[in-house]
Amino acid sequence: MATAASEHGTLIDGLTERLGAAAVLTGADDLEPALTETRGLYRGRALALVRPGDREEVAFVVRECARAGVPIVPQGGNTGLVGGGVPDGGIVLSLARLDRIRHLDPVNATITVEAGCILRAVQEAAEAAGHLFPLSLASEGSCRIGGNLATNAGGTAVLRYGNMRELTLGLEVVLADGRVWNGLKGLRKDNTGYDLKDLFIGSEGTLGIITAAVLKLFPKPRVRVTAFVGCASPGRALALFERLREAAGDQLTAFEYIPDFGLEIVLRHRPGAVRPLAGRHPSYALVELSSPQADADLRGRLETVLGQALEDGLIADAALGASEAQSLALWGLRESLSEVQRFEGGSIKHDVAVPVSRVAEFIETAAKACEAEMPGIRVCAFGHFGDGNIHFNLSQPVGMDRDAFLAEWARFNRIVHDIVHAMDGSIAAEHGVGLIKREELLRYKDPVALDLMRALKRTLDPRNLLNPGKVIDIGGPAPSAI
Ligand code: FAD
Repeated sequence: MATAASEHGTLIDGLTERLGAAAVLTGADDLEPALTETRGLYRGRALALVRPGDREEVAFVVRECARAGVPIVPQGGNTGLVGGGVPDGGIVLSLARLDRIRHLDPVNATITVEAGCILRAVQEAAEAAGHLFPLSLASEGSCRIGGNLATNAGGTAVLRYGNMRELTLGLEVVLADGRVWNGLKGLRKDNTGYDLKDLFIGSEGTLGIITAAVLKLFPKPRVRVTAFVGCASPGRALALFERLREAAGDQLTAFEYIPDFGLEIVLRHRPGAVRPLAGRHPSYALVELSSPQADADLRGRLETVLGQALEDGLIADAALGASEAQSLALWGLRESLSEVQRFEGGSIKHDVAVPVSRVAEFIETAAKACEAEMPGIRVCAFGHFGDGNIHFNLSQPVGMDRDAFLAEWARFNRIVHDIVHAMDGSIAAEHGVGLIKREELLRYKDPVALDLMRALKRTLDPRNLLNPGKVIDIGGPAPSAI
């Protein structure tokens, strides 16, 4: 009788024969980068890192793994923050070699790209053809389109353009049995039944392997103006947001929130960072207006709204980026916020969303609750205020032991997530569930929704071989997980 080890050996031999030795890596050094994730919270194990070169090879790998009962964990850029790409046995399937831009249709305003394309490469291809692909994340130089789709990535332009779900018209997916679903239609209207692509977007590799997508393109902005605004509270920031949305409509492309503590740690730890306003304020907003119309007077519009807000006492100070370089510098302050937090010791993170109307109330309520729970804790609540998505992060009290602080993660999850839930919010706004939020999902998601999710998983992956154990568990280990 064949042992699991000899069956795995046969699988690896078969994959090597078809894909070539350079595409089936089993050495410890080759595997290492695929076993850990960005924040080092998890460490996995795997039989091999397999790097197919096209859709047919992906389908072959999936069929062979199905035959051998070996789980598959898809990986793109491995920049996910929730442990979704960390393997617990089986193979890691890297999509990195599927990196072709297949087609750009300027009239349909779509670009068809393979899952392994780096996000920045897609942005650049769109730009070269005079269009905009608007998904924008701090990890855009290394995350890949398949990962963006599998996590329904958001970022800084969701306010105007939506997240990955809204940016996608079609998908190509290898199913758990190795069949290929060709859903690469670039249609804006298609009412021929269920919307299958939306099942796979945001499924974190648990329902199928995405190999290509048709993505929407937009007119390229020709003018852009950025402002950094200081005000007394998140409530004032929300009132400013309302005024700007009213005055600028679609031209309001970003409204990001930064607290005083956040700006101070950026200034402390980011070389070259310059204080954007003369004084300090409890809350800041980074605002961007943009338009494809070269003659749009965005600066005038922004100055009018901010001037009135100053006069009304709604905001305390504001600075407009006088040049593209200054605008980039203002964005740099916002973008380095996640990165600099680590210099302040342990950080407990929550990526949550509430209705925009409650975002200020959420920040204040959750901050008060956490400060009461642990005096000295430093709340760093920042992010995509304009779409209700806040990274509600907590830095340890000065001088506290880092590990002792991180051991309190579950206690703060309960406090923060209970408040989010009471406000009809989401405990996983843009980074997904992966491993880190599985238990929280069971606690907060509607039980009927959980049943539907399990039913879909059982239907599309009955043997639980696609990224098993992530997002939702359907019970029992994968058949021959090692
Ligand atoms: P990976 O990390 O490789 O994979 C993520 C998940 O998708 C895993 O579950 C994996 O199994 C699955 N997967 C990957 N490829 C496929 C595929 N082809 N088919 C099926 N499943 C697949 N995210 C945001 O949404 N908004 C942000 O603003 C943001 N900012 C970030 C900033 C930094 C500095 C970092 C490090 C991360 C940030 N992220 C953000 C998180 C991360 O970059 C995104 O989740 C990104 O979309 C993941 O892409 P990836 O290619 O790295 O995916």
